[in-house]
Amino acid sequence: MNARSCDVIVIGGGLHGLSAALQVARHGKRVVVIERHWVGRHASGATAAGVRTLNRDLGELDLSLEAMDMWHDMPSLVGDDCGFHANGQICVAETPKALAALEARVSGLRASGYTHEELIGPDELRRLLPELSHHCLGASIARRDGAADPHRALRAFRHSAEAAGVTIVEHCAVTGLERAGQDWRALTEAGAWTAPYVINAAGAWSARVAAMVGDDIPLATKSSMMMVSERLRPFIKPVVAIMGRSLSFKQSDQGTLVIGGGLQGIPDLDRETSTARMQVLAKGAHAATDLFPAVRDIRIVRVWAGLEAKTEDMLPIVGPSPNAPGVFHAFGFSGHGFELVPVVGAALTDLVLRGHTDRAIGNLQAQRLMRPAGATPERSS
Ligand SMILES: Cc1cc2nc3c(=O)[nH]c(=O)nc-3n(C[C@H](O)[C@H](O)[C@H](O)COP(=O)(O)OP(=O)(O)OC[C@H]3O[C@@H](n4cnc5c(N)ncnc54)[C@H](O)[C@@H]3O)c2cc1C
Repeated sequence: MNARSCDVIVIGGGLHGLSAALQVARHGKRVVVIERHWVGRHASGATAAGVRTLNRDLGELDLSLEAMDMWHDMPSLVGDDCGFHANGQICVAETPKALAALEARVSGLRASGYTHEELIGPDELRRLLPELSHHCLGASIARRDGAADPHRALRAFRHSAEAAGVTIVEHCAVTGLERAGQDWRALTEAGAWTAPYVINAAGAWSARVAAMVGDDIPLATKSSMMMVSERLRPFIKPVVAIMGRSLSFKQSDQGTLVIGGGLQGIPDLDRETSTARMQVLAKGAHAATDLFPAVRDIRIVRVWAGLEAKTEDMLPIVGPSPNAPGVFHAFGFSGHGFELVPVVGAALTDLVLRGHTDRAIGNLQAQRLMRPAGATPERSS
């Protein structure tokens, strides 16, 4: 085999690139993952690793529910549970208005046949979260949700991909894509690779890769921030959010509190930096101490921010390129792509192998966001 030719080129060594590479390679395809830095350098290494169906947009709910089943069976995919604990995710209502919104959401889901979210009252809430502030009125819960360990997930997906025969090329950026007969030629800092199929899993930079094949997909950037505390005694198992406020609050296996929930820093795609904003983080800290007064005096030991692509409707793009046969996009996860990692890789595998998939990606096609030529391809917010 010519070392530079393969069946599938995956651009981006985040969890989505690795998941697709692994699952395609298991079907006997020769796959190369090309990563500008190192595996997990961006969103996948910065993620809070929440595994959540709770409050998912209906446009991606079926896909998310299939992903949840895959998380519960993760060892069969990557030989490790990735630190996933299904202790539930809970969205707390602090006011009657917030509670009414949760009730409307859950009854709407029920009317459409979904039973994965339930409403719980104050007694059940306090049983699950004994240290929760007494002002909270009730909550919605998805009991099969939970959280995983992002670095363990990266290790497991990487090792499984390599064991399946995937070649991972790090410190090598893809700088262009061009047609070479029936194939695509990926131009990189270390020469060219050719393959009939290309998967664009380049995270926050995916619109630039899409533009290389003529897809003008408007994309903004998310710069989600996280903070982590000193180690504390174990006191909370589920992941907790608040209706109407930015908070995601959980305790890791190490005892540290991991606090985020969409708080935004300052992104810079060209420099590949994401700068934390302390005043915004302070809002998250307030929300956390409002819910759990006992954590008022703990020390925050580290904060960070990651970069990820954000679409206009906050749904990802998963599917074929509208303009480039053989190219498939998987990006724009808008802050909630970790949970989707196993299923999006499976959907891309279907597309590469059979040209179609039965998985629920119908609402995630690129065309829904594309504008006539001349529109600005990328903004930051
Ligand atoms: C702080 C934070 C918290 C989050 N919390 C959650 C959560 O709790 N639950 C949840 O479900 N999701 C969460 N997410 C979102 C989730 O982490 C992401 O959706 C997911 O990791 C995206 O993976 P990816 O592989 O698409 O992107 P990335 O991991 O960003 O990978 C893309 C890769 O492409 C590479 N690349 C880019 N351009 C090129 C090029 N030209 N050539 C070669 N390589 C290139 C980059 O270097 C990068 O490594 C969070 C994200 C952040 C940042």
